[in-house]
Amino acid sequence: MLTDIEISRLAKPQHITDIATKFGIETAELSLFGEAKAKVNLSILDRIQDNLDGKLVIVTAVTPTPFGEGKTVTSIGLTQGLNAIGKKACACIRQPSMGPVFGIKGGAAGGGYSQVIPMEEMNLHLTGDIHAVSSAHNLAAAAIDARLFHESRLSADEFAHQSGLSPLNIDPEQILWRRVVDHNERSLRTITVGLGELNGPVHDSGFDITAASELMAILALSHDLKDMRHRIGRLVLAMDKHGEPITAEMLGVAGAMTVIMTEAIKPTLMQTLTGDPCLVHAGPFANIAHGNSSIIADRIALKLADIVVTEGGFGSDMGFEKFCNIKVRESGKTPDAAVLVATLKALKANSGLDSERDINLPDQARLEAGFLNLKWHMDNVSQYGIPVVVALNRFPTDTQEELDWLKNAVMQAGAFGCEISNAFSLGASGTEALARKVVAATAQNSAFRFLYQTNSSIEAKLLSIAESGYGAKGMRLSNEAKEQLVQIQAMGLDHLSVCIAKTPLSISHDPAIKGVPKGFELPITQLKINAGAGFITALVGKVMTMPGLGIRPGYLNIDINDQDEIVGLA
Ligand code: ADP
Ligand code: MG
Repeated sequence: MLTDIEISRLAKPQHITDIATKFGIETAELSLFGEAKAKVNLSILDRIQDNLDGKLVIVTAVTPTPFGEGKTVTSIGLTQGLNAIGKKACACIRQPSMGPVFGIKGGAAGGGYSQVIPMEEMNLHLTGDIHAVSSAHNLAAAAIDARLFHESRLSADEFAHQSGLSPLNIDPEQILWRRVVDHNERSLRTITVGLGELNGPVHDSGFDITAASELMAILALSHDLKDMRHRIGRLVLAMDKHGEPITAEMLGVAGAMTVIMTEAIKPTLMQTLTGDPCLVHAGPFANIAHGNSSIIADRIALKLADIVVTEGGFGSDMGFEKFCNIKVRESGKTPDAAVLVATLKALKANSGLDSERDINLPDQARLEAGFLNLKWHMDNVSQYGIPVVVALNRFPTDTQEELDWLKNAVMQAGAFGCEISNAFSLGASGTEALARKVVAATAQNSAFRFLYQTNSSIEAKLLSIAESGYGAKGMRLSNEAKEQLVQIQAMGLDHLSVCIAKTPLSISHDPAIKGVPKGFELPITQLKINAGAGFITALVGKVMTMPGLGIRPGYLNIDINDQDEIVGLA
């Protein structure tokens, strides 16, 4: 079989204005970036506001292996399959971060015959949104340090007189806002800034990956530009010397940050290999952030399509939980069905059975043990009141026998449906059966419910996720987290949702515990106020908000060939 980038390059993309027209977007509502991608102006929302919403399908997965289990492949393949059976379907997915592209995954535009094209444009800069997020984020960091500098070299009166501003008295020990860059850069996790003469005050800082920026979450959760402006104004950047919060509004930088984001707020329209629409927008990770694409892209797509397929990152304990409890609460649009992606190799990896045997080889014992992980994720999705269709993402090494066994086990366990997906090897024709099942699932009367209500305390909300969302026996707050809880209450932010930052490689906080972890206590080490995005992030165990490059990073394979074409993006 050809590589992903070879398949992508062989396909001739249709002009994006043709894709738009077919989908119901007027040419005047597009800002073109070449011939194969265009931003969609938000003016479209007024024109289509009275259209009825289509159905919303969220794609999630079992506990993944480090390489991903094929949610994007399945999302794009399903969108192609739905269009092939005569439904008007659109995919809404996140823009890939360059961290994983050059770090481990090589790309996130789908794969095989289920891809968004041109895949290299999607995987690299696309229309510049991630750069805009980095730039707006780092402007706030620069603004804090400039303010500290000027206030520290002048008396309060002189500062006020010269600047026309009231002093903020920022406490250099309590700067909450770090810097961001869209690469895996371990060496920048902790830095000291302000060194050298007249560059101070000196204080600690550090970099997170841009996908972890609160601004990225804001981009994904904003309803429109004004809402984004309000949220940016609410960002808590630092504390003053009396322990009071200093916001981006108080620093006077919120307007300028929003201005940097005025193009980024528009989703980018691309196409699948079969010329179906795909809106690409925002890119928060699902382990350290909320892990879903934007509300704006969903709103546009829902007004134009019969069915919108979107993806929550990692397993259902991660992106799906956050989709339900954070994104749905903000958007008001509840999902009609979930597609749960499973692979034979992920189940074997989740079996908890030690084996020297390659996970790509048949192994009934490990498959049966690993099935418990899939069953856990089915039950997890079901507790939200929506039908679950399991998609068995077939890899070339899979045996029919094991797939048949698994399908039978899934149906016995009470799934609404289960289909083998050949999205990767066949594209649209490989997902038609799945598409039919999904259409049937969305026709059910679903009764969506949240896992927790926001009017309970932050502690109660965290406990709901720990116990009902992960099956923990309780949680343990560090002393630092306890102090932060008091601070959050004092700031009147108890009503916010919560976003748990933890490893995706286990349902628990410990990546080594496979299958269905039981009897564990969730250790919450730190709480982070994300007043702009509208949630409190709880860090569980050791969670890195800046990944590092491994010993054989993805970039080793990436180059240009003799024809000046990009190779190695997979
Ligand atoms: P996720 O969205 O769950 O992280 P992706 O859809 O991005 O996962 O897939 C992860 C990687 O695995 C990609 O490189 C993709 O091309 C590859 N992949 C997914 N499904 C298959 C399959 N059925 N056969 C072969 N490779 C696959
Ligand atoms: Mg994905």
